[in-house]
Amino acid sequence: MSVEPGGRPILSLPEVSTVTTLRHRNRALVLKHVILAQETTRADIAKESGLSIASAANLVTDLLAAGLVEERGSVSSRGGRPITLIGPRADSAVTIGADVGERGVALEMFDLAMNRIDQEFRGGATEEDPERIGADIHEAVAALRERNADRWPTLLGIGLGLPGVVETGPDGRQLLYAQSLGWPAVPVTSLCDAGPIPVLAENGAKMQARAESWFGGARGADHALIVLLGRGVGLGVITEGRLLSGSHSSAGEWGHTVIERGGRLCRCGNRGCVEAYLGSDAMLSAWKEAGGVFEGTGWRAVGRLIAAAHEGDPAASEIVEEVVDCLGTALGGLVNLTNPERIVIGGWVGLRLMESLGERVTEAIKRHSLARPGGQFTLRVAKFGGASVATGSALLPLEALIATDHMAEKRRA
Ligand SMILES: [Zn+2]
Repeated sequence: MSVEPGGRPILSLPEVSTVTTLRHRNRALVLKHVILAQETTRADIAKESGLSIASAANLVTDLLAAGLVEERGSVSSRGGRPITLIGPRADSAVTIGADVGERGVALEMFDLAMNRIDQEFRGGATEEDPERIGADIHEAVAALRERNADRWPTLLGIGLGLPGVVETGPDGRQLLYAQSLGWPAVPVTSLCDAGPIPVLAENGAKMQARAESWFGGARGADHALIVLLGRGVGLGVITEGRLLSGSHSSAGEWGHTVIERGGRLCRCGNRGCVEAYLGSDAMLSAWKEAGGVFEGTGWRAVGRLIAAAHEGDPAASEIVEEVVDCLGTALGGLVNLTNPERIVIGGWVGLRLMESLGERVTEAIKRHSLARPGGQFTLRVAKFGGASVATGSALLPLEALIATDHMAEKRRA
């Protein structure tokens, strides 16, 4: 934890990586295990973290003293000896995650055990500019603050899942580059400035990947592709157990890789991008051009398209066939590149496709990848559905807590 020239505390990534003492790292490992497990024992913590029982017990004592975990009664062991259960102390901290889109924001508030305790929405139907989005976030945070005044002092931070590339400068300042939305570079502080409360931003698809990797469809997978299909198309790549970021953080911008040279115009200005075929607007405008009749541009309209295809409507069938094949083409290349053990499909369009087309999507990916890696993944649907980006965003302040353990330090002081 440090302080910017303006006096605002920040949690920046370079500092997180300077936390190198073994005890510190092990305590972080134990805290993450307890939050993931929700209820565990000292023996299981030792086993999962590769520590001795004595070390695990010492670290649990540290975390109990810091108020981050609690004992929850006991169960009998096989030998009849009682074993104490350990869980995260839910009321010791809260964290907020925001799913920020060009049409509005969804904020969710969680306790330390990742139970959702409140939520707030702003915006909705029409596209907004960064200034309006900033005002939406400000209002939503104020509403959460008013309703949760007693818990506000324990707020770890606010995580923002943003619609574009998010870069963190050497001074910890973050900028959003949302080329597809036609926005100029936007300082994250202009979207959300919460005074002394840390604000941590990242690309929305990476936030979904974080949620699915902690608690959802990619849990336990060291090599996974977590796909976000909505109006836009995004991806998080887990490789060697880590979320891939690249030299400056834009790794995973799969929505703007070209699958057809000189193809359909994309929102980013290029032609033939994955998003120009798999984004909801692209799918629905193709159906409209083919004579499809539907209402709106959201969940029901995409559902109507898929249902019409199942009912044998030739135009809808052709479009759905093309969507499945495009998804297979685009993911097949990634299967060859990254050799995932798991592919998780999320986002509201992804959830719609996975309701009835999961097998066809798997077949299409296999068709477009080499036989060996094509036979080494399983396809799953995202667990978190519409709340995945906000949930993953709320994990970012939690990860900062785990990495720096600053609350434990602060409480001990
Ligand atoms: Zn594009």
